Amino acid sequence: MAENNIMEKIAALCKRRGFIFQSSEIYGGLNGFWDYGQLGAELKRNLRDTWWRAMTREREDVEGLDAAIIMHPNIWKASGHTETFADPMVDCKTCKGRFRADQLAQIPCPQKSSKPVADCDGEKTGARPFNLMFQTYTGPIQSEENIAYLRPETAQAIFVQFKNVLESSRQKLPFGICQIGKAFRNEINPRNYIFRSREFEQMELEFFIKPDEVIEKIHGSVAKWHEGADLSTPQPNWGWEMWHRYWVDQRVKYYESIGLGRDALDFYWQKKEELAHYAKATVDILFKFPFGTEELEGIAARGNYDLTQHSKFVGKPQDYFDEDTKTRYIPHVIEPSAGLDRLALAVITNAYHEETITDAKGKTETRVIMRFHPRIAPFKAGVFPLLKNKPELVAKAREVHRLLKPHMNCFYDEAGSIGRRYARQDEAGTPFCVTVDFETLEGVKDGADSGKKDTVTLRHRDTSAQERVSISDLLGKLLPAIS
Ligand code: ATP
Repeated sequence: MAENNIMEKIAALCKRRGFIFQSSEIYGGLNGFWDYGQLGAELKRNLRDTWWRAMTREREDVEGLDAAIIMHPNIWKASGHTETFADPMVDCKTCKGRFRADQLAQIPCPQKSSKPVADCDGEKTGARPFNLMFQTYTGPIQSEENIAYLRPETAQAIFVQFKNVLESSRQKLPFGICQIGKAFRNEINPRNYIFRSREFEQMELEFFIKPDEVIEKIHGSVAKWHEGADLSTPQPNWGWEMWHRYWVDQRVKYYESIGLGRDALDFYWQKKEELAHYAKATVDILFKFPFGTEELEGIAARGNYDLTQHSKFVGKPQDYFDEDTKTRYIPHVIEPSAGLDRLALAVITNAYHEETITDAKGKTETRVIMRFHPRIAPFKAGVFPLLKNKPELVAKAREVHRLLKPHMNCFYDEAGSIGRRYARQDEAGTPFCVTVDFETLEGVKDGADSGKKDTVTLRHRDTSAQERVSISDLLGKLLPAIS
C-alpha cells in the first residue's frame, strides 16, 4: 500500500509540474500511451543525450543510426517476430477481460480490485499466444501484401543496415551501431504508469564482435571471463563472454553517471532454460522501483542469429571480411537494450524526496525535492531578482539569465517570495538557483562596502547551502557540474 501511495504521489507531481500527462486525457485517455510535458520532455532529452554521448560520441568504436519505424515486413519474418513475438494471453469469461497469462498474480481483477486475477473466481480460458506487433498498411490498398508493422524493437534496423554502416564508416570489428527511437508493442496489460506502455522509446546498441573461433585462430586462445577480471580496457583476445561482461560493466557505469548508484540497481542472470533460443547469455539490469525490482535494461549475447537470418532471407551474406585471417564470417553480437521511458521513471522515482519543514509558528509543511543528477535535471538553474518591483534588480537578473541561457536550460522567475521560488525549483529538480540582490548591484551590506559587487547568491538544491559567487565565475562553476 505504501508503495502505491508513493506512485500515486509521484504521478500527481508529474502531472502538476508537467513531467508526464495521460495521452489524449481530455478524451478520457488511451490505455498504454503517455505524453511528456515541458519538464518531462527536457528530462527525456537529457537522458537521450547522456546515453548517446556515452555510447557513441565518447567512443571510436560505435556509430549512430536513425532508421525508419516502418520497415520491409519480411524483416519481421526473418527475425522471428511475425511467428513468435507473442505473449501468452488468457480470457476471463466472467468479466470478459484479457490478461497476460504470466502476470495473473500481479494484475488486479477488474471486478474485485482487492484480488489479483489469479485468485478471483472468474472462469478463465487456457493461455494462447497474442502477437504484440501493431499492424498497418503501406499505400492506399489495404491488402494482405501491403501489411506493414510498427517496429516492436529498434534492433532489427541496425542489423539490416549493418553492411551499409560497415562500408561507409570503414569500421573494423569489434565495433557497434547504436540507435534511439520509438518502438511499439500492443501489450496485453500496460501497467505501472509509464513502465509498460504500448508506445515507448528504446536505446539499443548492437556490438559486433569476432566469433571465438576466429579469435582463437589469431591469438591461439580466447580470454574468458573470470572473477576480478579487468574490464576497463578491451583486449584483442577477448571472447564473447568478456565482451558481455564488459558491456554490463559499461552500462552500470553509465547509470552511476546519471545518479543511479549500485544500491538502486540489481542484476538478474537469466537461467539457461529462460534464454531466448538465439541467446548465449542474458543479464537484466534491474531497478528498485517503488512497485518492485524490475527490468530496466537487458544485455544479451545474441550469437550471430539475426545477421544469419537476414542473410538467408535476402540471399546475400550479411558478413564481414577479416583482413587478419583473410576469411569471411558473420559477426557475433552483444546487445545492451534499454528503455528510455523506464529510465525516465527510474530517475523520477530515484529523485523523489519528501522533506517536512516546521516554520517559526510551529506549522509543518511537506515539500518535495526532486534530486535529479544535475546532468539530467530539466532545468539546470533558476535565476531570480530578489524583488520584482525593483527595475534595477530585474534588469541585472535578466542579464544573468541571458549569460547562462546559451549554455544551459535555465528558468527565470520573479513571482512570489524567494522561499516559494526556491521551493518551486526544488520540486522541478533544478540543482542551482541564482539570486540577484542589492549587494549584487552596489556591493554594500548593512551600510558598509562588502566588496561583493557583481556577486550573486548561488543556492544548492540538495543542501540548501548558499554561497556568494561572482557573476564572472558562474559559468565556470556550473558547467562542470552539469556536463
Ligand atoms: P518484458 O519481458 O518486460 O516484456 P522484454 O524483456 O521483452 O520486456 P526487451 O525486448 O528486452 O524487453 O526490450 C528491451 C528494453 O525495452 C526493456 O528492458 C525495457 O526497458 C524496454 N521495454 C520493453 N517493453 C517495454 C514496454 N512495453 N514499455 C516500456 N519499455 C519497454
